[in-house]
Amino acid sequence: MAANILIVEDEESILELIAINLHQSGFNPMRALNAEYADKLIQEAIPDLIILDWMLPGMNGIEFAKRLRSNSSTKKIPIIMLTAKSDEENKIVGLESGADDYLTKPFSPRELVARIKAVLRRKSPELIDDPIKISNLHLDPSTHRVESNGATIKIGPTEFKLLHFFMKNPDRVFSRNHILDKVWGNQSEIDDRTVDVHIKRLRDVLTNNGHDKLVQTVRGMGYRFSENQEN
Ligand code: CA
Repeated sequence: MAANILIVEDEESILELIAINLHQSGFNPMRALNAEYADKLIQEAIPDLIILDWMLPGMNGIEFAKRLRSNSSTKKIPIIMLTAKSDEENKIVGLESGADDYLTKPFSPRELVARIKAVLRRKSPELIDDPIKISNLHLDPSTHRVESNGATIKIGPTEFKLLHFFMKNPDRVFSRNHILDKVWGNQSEIDDRTVDVHIKRLRDVLTNNGHDKLVQTVRGMGYRFSENQEN
């Protein structure tokens, strides 16, 4: 699930630049040109992280951060503060106001994305979907792309979810029921054999470079994704 990131920035060009980069990195950006509008958006839905400009018209970033921290429903939202000021004293004020991290303008969008991931990894690791590489099989959740020995593989959405689940949990044996629960969720009309069908499809798309051997049947137990060919 893409993390919802609220950007509060009064310079529209910067706001847009950040939003585009977040979108490209697999996040869901929300935009506010001032703290007052940000407040409205937060009341509709609590974002997973806020990028907050220090210098804003009306309520400034420091005041807004303090306000968020003093409210029980918003105090846990991670905040990354943006500012044109670079001296240490301001950095301390920014962090004391409750920001989790602090970035000085001008910054590269890549640096910002890296900081966002670092904060989310610490605060809400379930929201971070890092690319995974096992045995020259490379899966990138943010782009929904799978590469086998560098070549992109055509893969259906269910097989992608199945492969993602396996690659996040290598070397562990999972029962069909467990896989159903994790990959399909609670859809009671689906039975165990559905798992077998999709396992077969997954193996089919992985056969070219022999990666189908990573998807192993464990007799009487279920399935395992592993580089080791044990029984
Ligand atoms: Ca500003």
